[in-house]
Amino acid sequence: MYERIREKLGILADAAKYDVSCASSGSNRKNENKGIGDAEGAGICHTYTEDGRCVSLLKILLTNHCIYDCAFCVSRRSNDIRRAAFTVEEVVELTMNFYRRNYIEGLFLSSGIFKNADYTMERLVRIVKKLRQDERFNGYIHLKTIPGASDELLREAGMYADRMSINLEMPTERGLKLLAPEKSHSEVEKPLKYIQNNITQFESEKALIKSVPKFVPAGQSTQIVVGATTESDKEILYTANAFYRNFSLKRVYYSGYIPISYDSRLPVIGSQPPLIRENRLYQADWLMRFYGFKVQEILDDLHPNLEIDVDPKLGWALRNLDRFPVDINTADYHMILRVPGIGVGSALKIVQARRFNRLHENHLRKLGIAFRKARHFIRYADSPMQLKEYEAGHIKNLILSEGKSKYQSNPDNQLSLF
Ligand code: SF4
Repeated sequence: MYERIREKLGILADAAKYDVSCASSGSNRKNENKGIGDAEGAGICHTYTEDGRCVSLLKILLTNHCIYDCAFCVSRRSNDIRRAAFTVEEVVELTMNFYRRNYIEGLFLSSGIFKNADYTMERLVRIVKKLRQDERFNGYIHLKTIPGASDELLREAGMYADRMSINLEMPTERGLKLLAPEKSHSEVEKPLKYIQNNITQFESEKALIKSVPKFVPAGQSTQIVVGATTESDKEILYTANAFYRNFSLKRVYYSGYIPISYDSRLPVIGSQPPLIRENRLYQADWLMRFYGFKVQEILDDLHPNLEIDVDPKLGWALRNLDRFPVDINTADYHMILRVPGIGVGSALKIVQARRFNRLHENHLRKLGIAFRKARHFIRYADSPMQLKEYEAGHIKNLILSEGKSKYQSNPDNQLSLF
């Protein structure tokens, strides 16, 4: 690879790592002692398609030049960093090179904004168009929308990208105005709405005419930065919920803020990214999307933040003990889903299995539920005649003392990764 392109790849793949709206992992292990491999700055991350396949993506920025000065962003114009920009041809060539060598199955392409939104978006569109039309590239493409780009460019981008996304960044307008006064949530809502309407239109036309091309077949997503501003989990989840509802988003990603700036508006450099909080938000998001929970049930004015020591489903159950115990042999599927320790798969198995037998403890254990957690909230064929009436706090302590919570030994709110 030419030295300059390698250098650009180092800069622009590194700058792209702060975007979690396609799931990614990072490492800084170098090749030492003439060993095999080098995990540094490769710019390759992984994401999951709708059918559950894991695909590896080349994850890069077109450029880290930006006319904006969002305080939380490493590419902000006031940041004194090395800048670089790929040409359209370079991104196409890199993608095809990596693809042919089987390093990647797709491309995640984002960009800082140089000159203006249309100027940047037009280049992104040229890249994806060239990949699809000239190179006949059929791999996965996730393209970031540039806020403020014209509808025509968005529509054209949607003809070539599998997924499009646009970051909300701060969960509230108030937070965004604090750190990025030049930006607004409405700038994000407009293109999301436009793409959503087009997805619906293409889908309805496709139902009638087979030859209608695909338009953003993997849908749209967004990213919310957590912990850079003071919003509560309630504000974050209510925003996410409204965006799921209003724009039919496939995913909202939550990204714990990694301090990168000496700015008095932001957490100081060296403070820990809120990884557990980020994880709890993903769990709560999961409850809304797959377990039938309404956002108001998870958080309200009395409980504006998710608990760190217990997951949101257990937290909800402990606050609603009057809804338990749930009789596994008679309860409605949706109520079984709400039992801590019972997932979607095991709830389905329970409902199927009880058609043939009244379920006992040994059946439940075999069906894969987390019995030690669930037993405090259920009745089954051979459950003790008299359930002890524990207080919520007591049940919580019992569960925490029995489980090996990875969070208990990390009072710093930081997971140990290695
Ligand atoms: S517009 Fe985007 S790339 Fe530019 S500084 Fe703001 S967040 Fe960063």
